[in-house]
Amino acid sequence: MSKSIFHGHGYFMNDDRASGGKMAEDDIIACAHTGAAMKKADWKLHGGMCMVCARPISAAAFKRAKVFGCEGPEEKRIEQAVNAHYHAQQNAKVLGI
Ligand SMILES: [Zn+2]
Repeated sequence: MSKSIFHGHGYFMNDDRASGGKMAEDDIIACAHTGAAMKKADWKLHGGMCMVCARPISAAAFKRAKVFGCEGPEEKRIEQAVNAHYHAQQNAKVLGI
């Protein structure tokens, strides 16, 4: 996958013509909430936009956002998980376990 000059997330190309299929190309964008890769054309038809973090989100994340609200950018969730793991290790060290 090469990097798109338009969006910076990537470019999808599947050339299946040699086996009787067809060639498929599209820009790739990433879901802000889950990090899932989405084809831009599919996102235009089925995806959504988070109004809190103002980023494109997948259809599944869009359904969750209607119920739970913005679940934050993926980078924030990874940072929270790393911090939680660090604090658990520090607590175990203090407690001697
Ligand atoms: Zn959001």
